[in-house]
Amino acid sequence: MKCNYCSKNTLICKGKRGINQRYQCKNCGKYQQDFYSYKLYNSQDDKKIKILNAEGVGIRSMSRILGYSQGTIIRRIQHLASKVIKPIYSANNEVYEVDEMWSFVEKKKPSNYCWITYAINRRTHEVIDVSFGSRSKENLGKVIRSVLSYKPKKIVTDKLNTYPGLIPSELHDTTRYANNRIERSNLTLRTNIKRLSRKTICFSKSKKMLEACVLLYFDYHYWKICTKK
Ligand SMILES: [Zn+2]
Repeated sequence: MKCNYCSKNTLICKGKRGINQRYQCKNCGKYQQDFYSYKLYNSQDDKKIKILNAEGVGIRSMSRILGYSQGTIIRRIQHLASKVIKPIYSANNEVYEVDEMWSFVEKKKPSNYCWITYAINRRTHEVIDVSFGSRSKENLGKVIRSVLSYKPKKIVTDKLNTYPGLIPSELHDTTRYANNRIERSNLTLRTNIKRLSRKTICFSKSKKMLEACVLLYFDYHYWKICTKK
């Protein structure tokens, strides 16, 4: 048997992976196996991962459908999410809606809430910005600042008492039913992203993965025109 990297006959047995023998090359020092249970990742499947993520398929289902290991899928989702660019829109004087949606991280209990705060354009339904974490002034402020940079006509939110300190009162609107579009959008997210479903035991084990999956979803539906992928 020859080394996959330097093609010399210098392999020695070195440990096992499950039932598969593992080898080390004495020439180049690389580890390898003669049989792998999962195939090598092909970057042409990036698009499939994005589609499956946007269709409510979880990590383990993706692993079974595409034939890659769960670790590969997780690493790839994080890599793809790190490439996502939030677009800059040209629209001014529009109405924006801002809302928060809860999800869990690590454990399913109220102290582990992780909130997804995001803003949409009421007319076009485009997502402007998103932040993850508690409902602190810092996290909400990040979204509000990027909405204010578009010179909005009005910002519609719910009656959470953090907003009046962040939004100038002449722009702020907390009328009942005014934020219907973003509340509808919350339901769409819960239907389409596996880890946001309610009344299941499927939820994110880390904040990093929650961020990555939601960013990929927004990229797939709203931002891909801008990133040209
Ligand atoms: Zn070698």
